[in-house]
Amino acid sequence: MKAEECLAHLSAQLARLPGVGRRTAERMAWRLARDPEGLLRGLQEALAKVAEQARVCSLCGGLTTRGQDPCALCSDARRDASLLCVVEDAGDIALIEKTGVFHGRYHALGGKLSAAGNMGPADLRLDRLIQRAQDGSVREILLALNTDVESEATCAYIREQLRAFPIRVTRLAMGLPAGSGLMYADPLTLARALQGRQEL
Ligand SMILES: [Zn+2]
Repeated sequence: MKAEECLAHLSAQLARLPGVGRRTAERMAWRLARDPEGLLRGLQEALAKVAEQARVCSLCGGLTTRGQDPCALCSDARRDASLLCVVEDAGDIALIEKTGVFHGRYHALGGKLSAAGNMGPADLRLDRLIQRAQDGSVREILLALNTDVESEATCAYIREQLRAFPIRVTRLAMGLPAGSGLMYADPLTLARALQGRQEL
């Protein structure tokens, strides 16, 4: 394979990442090619470590280390198993943990309903959420989704799916920036939104 083809292949792989357009992917590939012993080697090592050690928890959908499934949060008996916090992305779990005010368990959906993004109910970890709702130990489900239109629609959809269960469904209190994600809220605002959660 010629160098040009190798770079084109790398660009195509990079462009599959969220938020990376074709042009950005090409620039990244060029940047890596220019520094094979530094940047490229570092990235290679980091990728190998993630591939070797990072896994997805089969229960919550969050990050775990290979060989530990369920993850440390799901296995922690001190955490309140009756309170389940639903987030869009696994990365949101760390944001909520950082506030230090939530002591329940988590469930990451792996996205949100989106016509533009081609995400339907079957693409989210909703079956697993319903299973967890069915097992009887959950008393409250807190929907900690983002505040954009698609996330609102996802919230409404999940609310409907959970009507069959004797479970209190709540959502974050207002105060988060409208139309944005949890990652744009500072920890104090997020802590207040968690503490002041409201019935949905
Ligand atoms: Zn877990």
